[in-house]
Amino acid sequence: MERIDLKGRKALVVGVANADSLAWWAARHFRSAGADMAMTYLNDKAKPHVAPLAEELEAQFLLKCDVAVPDELEAVFETLSEAWQRIDIVFHAVAWARKEDLHGRLTDCSAEGFAESMLISCHSFIRMARLAEPLMQNGGSLITLSYYGAEKVVDHYNVMGPVKAALEASVRYLAHELGPKGIRVNAISAGPIKTRAASGIEHFDEILAESAAKAPLRRTVDACEVGRVSVLLASDYAASITGEIVHADAGFHVAGMIFH
Ligand code: NAD
Repeated sequence: MERIDLKGRKALVVGVANADSLAWWAARHFRSAGADMAMTYLNDKAKPHVAPLAEELEAQFLLKCDVAVPDELEAVFETLSEAWQRIDIVFHAVAWARKEDLHGRLTDCSAEGFAESMLISCHSFIRMARLAEPLMQNGGSLITLSYYGAEKVVDHYNVMGPVKAALEASVRYLAHELGPKGIRVNAISAGPIKTRAASGIEHFDEILAESAAKAPLRRTVDACEVGRVSVLLASDYAASITGEIVHADAGFHVAGMIFH
């Protein structure tokens, strides 16, 4: 019987806040496919929520990592380099914007707020790629998470639209640069799912309802489904896929003018 096997693969997952996090569901699937796990938590306040999850997966490492704090991300890779000597899978599920920018018009977004959101939500993935490169001598898989608001205007997504657009473009350029080394770079464009990050987006329930009404599958998706796509992209089954934005959105992205 064919099944996805990540036995012995070394996986780093950044972005678990709680049991609703898309990163948590990716981590669960990596682990159940046999991967050895390292997870991070944002800060001391977040740690009690993440530690039991790391324990549940028997994660070999639970490390502190705020990508906005100088050297913390570098320290994570240093620890893993010493212990594992290599990394096979890097999963990036990090996004942040100032509340006033997330809730306000892009037109009014400050330079500082825009730069901060770009650094945390987009450039951190580029940094992870650079840090992972020397540890992926036998190739590897870098995965990040995006949303349809990168491609088309979604009311209330505001500053995150251009930030995710930059992230998706970064996926393509990183795939081009790292491909010759066998390192694949992809994004999953997930449909809307209720998580902590999603609760920061205004009118999220309306976004959910609209997505379900227009998607070909006439429903939204859940975090487990995104986890399954994550494990697929991490595995050899996706060995020919790189530079791709894989939509795990019940097909919503193909919907144009839909009448009900
Ligand atoms: P979440 O709140 O569970 O995850 C967001 C994570 O970002 C948290 O773990 C948080 O600690 C982390 N983060 C924020 N600032 C950070 C920093 N400075 N350093 C390190 N980590 C930081 O919510 P989620 O919905 O699971 O979000 C994960 C990713 O999925 C995000 O990139 C989000 O944009 C993307 N996404 C979410 C949805 C959705 O509807 N939930 C849809 C498509 C894409």
